[in-house]
Amino acid sequence: MTHQRSGVARTVLGLAAALAVALAGAGRADAAEGDRRLVLVTLDGLSWTDVFRGADPERAADPAFVTERKAIADQFLAPADRAQALMPFLHGVMARQGVLIGDRDHGSCVAVANDKWFSYPGYNEILTGRPDPAITSNEHGPNANVTFLEWLNRRPAFKGRVEAVASWDAFNDILNARRSGLPVNAGWDGGEAQAPDDPIAKLQADAPRIWLSARLDGFTQAWAMEALHERKPEVLFVAFDETDDFAHDGHYDQVLWAAHRADGFLARIWAALQTDPAYAGRTDLIVTTDHGRGTVGKAGWRGHGKPIYVGSDATWIAAIGPDVKPGARPAGDCATSGQIAATALTALGLDWKAFDPAAAPPLDILKGK
Ligand SMILES: [Zn+2]
Repeated sequence: MTHQRSGVARTVLGLAAALAVALAGAGRADAAEGDRRLVLVTLDGLSWTDVFRGADPERAADPAFVTERKAIADQFLAPADRAQALMPFLHGVMARQGVLIGDRDHGSCVAVANDKWFSYPGYNEILTGRPDPAITSNEHGPNANVTFLEWLNRRPAFKGRVEAVASWDAFNDILNARRSGLPVNAGWDGGEAQAPDDPIAKLQADAPRIWLSARLDGFTQAWAMEALHERKPEVLFVAFDETDDFAHDGHYDQVLWAAHRADGFLARIWAALQTDPAYAGRTDLIVTTDHGRGTVGKAGWRGHGKPIYVGSDATWIAAIGPDVKPGARPAGDCATSGQIAATALTALGLDWKAFDPAAAPPLDILKGK
């Protein structure tokens, strides 16, 4: 009996070992797909001129656009490197260790391929990989197109592991929250509806509301950090807004501070990713904008949209992470914002053509891809 039992035990152990090997094999197949993580951040309507040239001296000195001229001059005009002063993380870390493209002063170019040059068409292009001419308004309603985030959320390896936090409430429609099943925490009611007792929701409810459809970015950042710390999604999309709305309002000082704060948000997100074993060494960060701003006339910067606001199709893209070739510059005349979807999927180890063969191809900024 003893001998037999140990024989049975050996058989069971052998089966368990075989099963473990089989499971590990299956796990590897999944791991190939779930191995990489991604954070995509958008800074709404932040002009490439501000990103690459820093604060505009003439505009920053204009009482029509800037109330706090002395403070702005000290912080953003006095430093020798104005771009670095405005966005130290973007230039000091992302551009050096990763990629920053769209500097038209130095032969680099990115633009939206859509012919609208405003937000919903821009985000649709970024998230689906191509323009949709049927989207002609920011009040377009639920998006008929499937974003790469929704597509990921339908795959076993990513199911329930993709999240979006956004200042602007239109992301409920852009990401088609109802159909996609993506958790979308967007606008003033976003966090309150999902987590009414969360301290962030309480602060948000008590904060001044400058714009009805967009909450202040500090709350979006707080929700993003909470997601990274507590739920650790495989893919997180963070959409900030202030750089666009303060520009529409004509407050250039507030635009500059918003861009500077957003740069700090990026630095904190990146630092959090580097210190968390769930993310460290396997997470790429991509940062971009949905459209540019007008470049003609003294007040052109306040608006965007074709055809009035010439130049507002110009965008920029930054990327950093284990899959990004430092200093890479895509060949060709001008990259498009639609290439971000395929770039993100490729960085995640997936075949972007399985998502949409008609999507714009990946940017040539990834290692070995
Ligand atoms: Zn706008």
